[in-house]
Amino acid sequence: MFKGLTNVAAARVWHGTMPVQYLYTAGVAGERFFQTLRRKGVFAVTTCAECQVTYLPPRLYCERCFADLSEAWAEVAPSGRVHTYTVVHEDQDGRPLDPPQVVAFVRIDGTSGGLIGRLLHLRPQDVQVEMPVDAVLAPPRRRRGSMDDIAGFAPRRVLPRRPTP
Ligand SMILES: [Zn+2]
Repeated sequence: MFKGLTNVAAARVWHGTMPVQYLYTAGVAGERFFQTLRRKGVFAVTTCAECQVTYLPPRLYCERCFADLSEAWAEVAPSGRVHTYTVVHEDQDGRPLDPPQVVAFVRIDGTSGGLIGRLLHLRPQDVQVEMPVDAVLAPPRRRRGSMDDIAGFAPRRVLPRRPTP
């Protein structure tokens, strides 16, 4: 009868590498979101008129009524309000962050959704739920059509207001 391994030191070990490649795609809706962000600096969304839901991130079908939203695109300004946030004191490797970073979930105006991003130009003690923020985007020529195009969100009073598309 197999009793399992009770003495780890008795285990034989092979050292080596496993060549593995990953390729994640953003999908049709995600690709349009990123290309719109790169070209225009605004957020592409889809709207289900029946359910009065505007999806951000955009969806190709309504998650409530399953309506086809592939032709229901619109664009919204990259602005919103802090819905919730957390203060991060260490990086991924456990090294202290000085100053600490604030990461927020920002509800985007005119949508039913939002995005997570760093809050910029703010001390943790100055963050307030519901405070208006604008996305800080990479300069147009540096955008690559990825989440890295969004550096973070900054309080609206710091930046000139963007025109609504
Ligand atoms: Zn719907």
